[in-house]
Amino acid sequence: VSSVVIVGGGVAGVATAAALRAGGFDGAVAVVEESELPYDRPPLSKAYLAGDKPLTALALRPPAWYEEQGVELLTGTRATGLWPAESRVELSSGRVLSADRVVLAVGGHAARPGIPGLDSPLVHVLRDRDQADALREALLPGARLLVVGGGLIGAEVASTACGLGVAVTLVDPLAIPLEAVVGPEAGEWLHGLHAQRGVTTRRALLGRLTERGSELVATIGDEAVVFDMALLAVGLSPECSLARSIGLEVAQGVVVDTGQVTSNPAVLSVGDSTRRRLGVGLEPRAEHWEAAQLDGARAAATILGATAPVPTAPWFWSDRHGVHVEAVGHMPAARERAMRGRPGEGPFSVWGVRDGRLVAAVSIDDPNAVRAARRMIDRGVVVSAAALADPGTDLRGLLRG
Ligand SMILES: Cc1cc2nc3c(=O)[nH]c(=O)nc-3n(C[C@H](O)[C@H](O)[C@H](O)COP(=O)(O)OP(=O)(O)OC[C@H]3O[C@@H](n4cnc5c(N)ncnc54)[C@H](O)[C@@H]3O)c2cc1C
Repeated sequence: VSSVVIVGGGVAGVATAAALRAGGFDGAVAVVEESELPYDRPPLSKAYLAGDKPLTALALRPPAWYEEQGVELLTGTRATGLWPAESRVELSSGRVLSADRVVLAVGGHAARPGIPGLDSPLVHVLRDRDQADALREALLPGARLLVVGGGLIGAEVASTACGLGVAVTLVDPLAIPLEAVVGPEAGEWLHGLHAQRGVTTRRALLGRLTERGSELVATIGDEAVVFDMALLAVGLSPECSLARSIGLEVAQGVVVDTGQVTSNPAVLSVGDSTRRRLGVGLEPRAEHWEAAQLDGARAAATILGATAPVPTAPWFWSDRHGVHVEAVGHMPAARERAMRGRPGEGPFSVWGVRDGRLVAAVSIDDPNAVRAARRMIDRGVVVSAAALADPGTDLRGLLRG
C-alpha cells in the first residue's frame, strides 16, 4: 500500500492518520474534510455551547501537526466519488487523488424522524459547529427551549441551556431515558437531576411542531405548549451515501469486519458511520468518541499488516448539571447490579455482574471506579455483586485477584 485517502476529518479520520504514521507508514496520507480544520465534537453541547471554550480550543490537532506528520489536509472539500478498483477518489474541487486504500470516516447527521413541523428554522439539531453556533445564538436568558429526546446530547444541551438562564422543557417518552445504557439506578438519578436544576421534564411523545410567528407551538400529549425554539436530539443517522454509491454492504451503518474492512477489501470504514460484524450478528453503532478513535487505530493496523490493538470494553463520558458521568461495558448484559455509594450523597457507582464476571459499570463523579471496572472487565476478573456492594472491599484487591 503506498497511498491512503481518509474521507472525513473527525476524531476517527484523524486518529487513522495518526496511527498510520505512528505505525511507520511512509506512503501518502490525505485527509479530506468538507468543513474547516478538524475539530472535536463533545464540547459542542458542553463548554463550547456555554461560551466557555473558544473555537481554537476545539481543534483535534494544531494546524502544524498535519505538516509535521506529512499528512495532506484538504479542508473545505468533499469526496464525491470513489473508484476503488482504479485506486481513485474524486473531490468536489475536481481534483482526483490516488488511493490504494480508502478509509471512510464520515460520521453522520442528527436523525430527523417523521414528526410534522421539523423543517421550521426554529428547530435546531446539533452535530456540527455551525449548528452549535446557531443554537448558541438562540440560547438567550429567558428564552423557552424545548429539548426533544433525553439521551446524552439532549440532556447535555438541557443542562448547558439551563446554566445560560434558558427555560428548558425536555420531552422523552421513556421514564428513564438512559436506562438501557447506564441501568435504572444511575439512569433515574441522572434524569431526576433535570427537575432538581429547574428543567421541566415531560414523559411524552412529541406530536407535532407548528410555527406561529416567531414562536413554536409543540403538541405534547394533549397539550399545546409555546416555545421560542426546539432542539431535536433523537439519535444519529449514519452517513452512508458514498458507501452505497459503490455497492458496499450497509445496514444502518457501513458494515465492517473486526479489522474495519468493508465488503470491498480496498475500502475501510471507521467511527460513527460504521457497524462491526461479530460472528453472525452486527454490533450496534458505538457513537462514542473513544470508540471512533480506536476504530482508527484498528484500521491503521489492518493497512500496515500489524497486530490490531487489544480490544477493550467500550467506554464513554458525559457531563450534565455539573456532574461527570462515565460508563464502561454493556449494562443490559448484567444479571445483578451492585451500588457503591448512594445517589445524591456524593460520588457513586453501579456495577453490573453476570455469571461471576463484571460486564459493566457506571460512575457519577468517580472516574477511578470506572477505570478499575474497565480493567476488571478486560481481564475477566472473578467478582460477586455482594463483594462489590461492600464498601469495605478494596477494588485494587479485587483486581489483584
Ligand atoms: C454534540 C456532541 C457531543 C458529544 N459528546 C460526547 C461525549 O461527551 N462523550 C463521547 O464519548 N462522545 C461524545 N460525542 C460523540 C463523538 O463526538 C462521536 O462519536 C465522534 O465525533 C465520532 O467521530 P467520527 O470521526 O466517526 O465522526 P464525525 O466526528 O462526525 O466526523 C466525520 C467528518 O466527516 C466529514 N465528512 C462527511 N462526509 C464527507 C465527505 N464526503 N467528504 C469530506 N468530508 C466528509 C464531516 O464533515 C465530519 O467532519 C458527542 C457528539 C456530539 C455531536
